[in-house]
Amino acid sequence: MRSWSRAERARAGGVRIGFVPTMGFLHEGHLRLVDRARELADRVVMSIFVNPLQFGPREDFAAYPRDLDRDRKLAAERGVDCLFFPSADAMYPTEPLVRVDPGPMADTLEGAARPGHFAGVLTVVAKLLHIVEPDVAVFGRKDFQQVMLVQRMVGDLDFACEIEIAPTVRELDGLALSSRNVYLKGDDRRVALALSRALRAVEQAWRGGEADPRALERRGMEVLQVPGMTPEYFKLVDAQMRPVTRVDAKTIALVAARVGAAGTRLIDNVVLGEGIANDVPVRVAVKD
Ligand code: AMP
Repeated sequence: MRSWSRAERARAGGVRIGFVPTMGFLHEGHLRLVDRARELADRVVMSIFVNPLQFGPREDFAAYPRDLDRDRKLAAERGVDCLFFPSADAMYPTEPLVRVDPGPMADTLEGAARPGHFAGVLTVVAKLLHIVEPDVAVFGRKDFQQVMLVQRMVGDLDFACEIEIAPTVRELDGLALSSRNVYLKGDDRRVALALSRALRAVEQAWRGGEADPRALERRGMEVLQVPGMTPEYFKLVDAQMRPVTRVDAKTIALVAARVGAAGTRLIDNVVLGEGIANDVPVRVAVKD
C-alpha cells in the first residue's frame, strides 16, 4: 500500500493523496466522503477493514455486515483509485502491545459505553495513516466523538495529514445512514427515527430560546421514550466532549439508543448552529 502511494507521488510530482477509511458495507454516506476526497486530492485511497481492536467482547464484530464484491464495484464506480482491504493477520501479525491512548475525551459518551473502543479506533487510524501516507483523510461527522479524537491525535502527535470532516448523510425522513441499519427489522426502522426526531426537537427548542442545557437534554430524552427503543444517552457537549453549562451554536447534541428486539445500537448527533437541515439528504431504497 505504501509503495503504491509513494510510486504515485514519484510518477507525477505534486500529486495529493486523499484517504477514506471505512469498515465497508458501503452506503451513500461513505461514498460522499469519496466525493469530498476527490475534491481535495488527485488520487483517492479507500480502506475497508473491520477492525477487531475496536469491538468489545460482547459486540457485533463477527456479525458486522460484509460484502467485498459489492463494495469493490461501488468504490470503483465512485472514482476510488486504490482499494486497500488488508486481512486482520496482515494488520495485526501479533497482538499489538503498544496502542494509542485516546485520553480524557474518550472517557465519556461512546467511550464510556464501549470501553477500549477509541483506543482501538485511534490505533488502527494511526496505522492506516502510516501505511497510506495521505495528504488528507476524510471522516464523517456522523461519528462525531471519533472524528474529534482523530483530529486531536493528528494534532497532538504531529501526523503529517489534514483531517476533513464531511456532513452526515441522512435518508429523507431523517435516519442517518449506517452500515448497522441492515440490522433493523420490521418496525425497527420506524422506531429508529426517534433519534433524529429528538435531535431536531432539541435544535428547535434551542432556536426557540431554551438555553438551559439540562432542560434540552431532558427534552431529547423525552422524545426517545418510544416502545421498542432503549435510550442510552442524550447529551450536550463542546468539541472536547465536556458537558456544556452554556449552550451556543457550536454545542453538539449527541444521542445513542438501542432499537428493537436485537438491540441494534445506533448513534447520531447535530451541531446546534448548523442544524439537521444542513446535513445531506439522500433517497435510499428502504428495505425490510
Ligand atoms: P464506518 O464504515 O461506519 O466505520 O464509517 C466509515 C466513515 O464513514 C467514518 O468516517 C464515518 O463517520 C463515515 N460515515 C458513516 N456513516 C455516515 C453518514 N451517514 N454520513 C456521513 N459519514 C458517514
